[in-house]
Amino acid sequence: MNTPLDLLILGSGPAALALAAQSALRGLTVQLVAPTPEARWTQNFGSWSDELVGTPAEGCIEASWAAPSVFTPRRKEQILDRRYARVQTPRLQQKLRAACAEAGVGVERATAAAVTHDRSGATITLSDGCERRARLVVDATGSGSRLLQRQAGAAPGYQTAYGQLIRVTGHPWRCGEMVLMDWSTSAGGAGVDDEDGTPSFLYALPLGWDLLFVEETVLVRRPPVSHWELARRLDRRLERLGIQRVAVLEEEFCTIAMGGPLPRLDQRTVGFGAAAGLVHPASGYQLARTLALAPVLADALARGLSGADLDAAAASAWRSIWTPDRQRSWELYRFGMDVLCGLDRDATGRFFDGFFDLPQDRWTGFLSATDSPSDTARTMADLFARVDARTRWTLMGMGARQGASLIRAVVGA
Ligand SMILES: Cc1cc2nc3c(=O)[nH]c(=O)nc-3n(C[C@H](O)[C@H](O)[C@H](O)COP(=O)(O)OP(=O)(O)OC[C@H]3O[C@@H](n4cnc5c(N)ncnc54)[C@H](O)[C@@H]3O)c2cc1C
Repeated sequence: MNTPLDLLILGSGPAALALAAQSALRGLTVQLVAPTPEARWTQNFGSWSDELVGTPAEGCIEASWAAPSVFTPRRKEQILDRRYARVQTPRLQQKLRAACAEAGVGVERATAAAVTHDRSGATITLSDGCERRARLVVDATGSGSRLLQRQAGAAPGYQTAYGQLIRVTGHPWRCGEMVLMDWSTSAGGAGVDDEDGTPSFLYALPLGWDLLFVEETVLVRRPPVSHWELARRLDRRLERLGIQRVAVLEEEFCTIAMGGPLPRLDQRTVGFGAAAGLVHPASGYQLARTLALAPVLADALARGLSGADLDAAAASAWRSIWTPDRQRSWELYRFGMDVLCGLDRDATGRFFDGFFDLPQDRWTGFLSATDSPSDTARTMADLFARVDARTRWTLMGMGARQGASLIRAVVGA
C-alpha cells in the first residue's frame, strides 16, 4: 500500500508556494494542486522594505525608495522615514517554484471541488470527479476560497485600483522619491471632481527617468468602485501633473477583498494566505505577512503530523497563524476598515494627517499587523486624540455602534 501524502496544498499563489517549500524542507511529503500552476503572477507587489527582510522576497526587490510621501489636502506633503520596495514579481515566483522543486514538492494541474475528512486523512474531489488523498489539506486558493467554513458576520470591504506601467517623457519626482498616497482630487484643489465623492489616491513609483508605475486606488469601500472610474481619474491626475505617456506597457486591474469573515478555526481543512483572512483589513497588504508566517505554519504542521491525531494537528496549525492576540487585533483593524469605508474625502485626508503624525513605531506596528491588541488599541486611542473635532465626532458615532465588539476585541472577552 502507498504511504499517503502528508499535505495537499491547494493553489499556486505566493501562499501555496511559500508554505509548500517550507513544509517539504521539514520532511513532509507535499503536493500542490492548482488549475494553472505555471501561470505568471501579474500582481505588482509593493511592501515596506523592512517587512521583507528574512523572507524569500528579500532578494527579489526591483527598486526601493527612501522617501515615500503622503499628500493630504490640508497638510500637503509629509515625507515618511521608512523605505518602501517594489517586488520583482516574476523573480519571486521563480524563486519559490525553484525552492519547491528542490525540496521535492509535487505539482498537479487540477481544480479542487470538495474536501471531506475521516479518521486517517482527507479526500479531495477534483472538478473531473477524480479523488486525491492526504493526511491534511491546506486551502491557499485566495480570497475566493470555497472550501473553508467561515465564521458568521463581517461583510468584506473592497480595495479597488487601476494601475499602469507607463513610458513617459519625464516626471516630477527625484531619485528616492515616490508617492505612497496622494489624497488630493484627481483634478487637484479641493473641488469634488470625483462624482460620488468616493476618495481615491494616487500611488506612484518612479522606476527610471522615463518609466513609472502609477495606480489610482480606493483604499476600501462597499461595494467596490469600478476600474473604469479609476482609469478616468488616473487620466485626469496624470494630465494635472503634466505627465505625458509615450506608451502603456502594462495595466493592472486590482480588487482585494478585505476584512471578510475569518475562517472557523475548529475545522480540519487548514487555510493560508488570503483564503485564511491574512489580508490586512485596513490596508490590503498581505504578501510580507504571508511569507513571514509560512515557516511558522510549516513548523506547526510538521509537529502536528508527527502524531496520529489529525484534529489536533489542524487545530495547532490554525493557532500558529491565528493566535488569540492576532484575532483580537484583527477585530480592531476591522473596525479601522469600517471607519475608512464611511469617510468622505475631507475626513479621509484628516484621518491620515493624524495617522502619519503618530510616532513611527506606532503606525508601523499598526500597518504591519504585528502589534499586540493593547498596543493596537493604544494607537487607535492616540489617533483619536490627534484628529480634528469633526473626525472625532465621526469616529465616536462609529465607535458607539460597534462598541461592544470593540471592547470584546481589546479585553479578549
Ligand atoms: C492585483 C493585486 C495586487 C496586489 N498587490 C499587493 C501588494 O502590492 N502588496 C501586498 O502585500 N498584497 C497585494 N495584494 C494582495 C495579496 O497579497 C494578493 O492577492 C496575493 O496574491 C494573495 O496570495 P494567495 O497565495 O493567498 O492567493 P492568490 O495569489 O490569489 O492565489 C490563489 C491560487 O489558488 C488557485 N486556485 C483557485 N481556486 C482553486 C481551486 N478550486 N483548486 C485549486 N487551486 C485553486 C489559483 O489558481 C491561484 O493559484 C494584491 C492583490 C491583487 C489582486
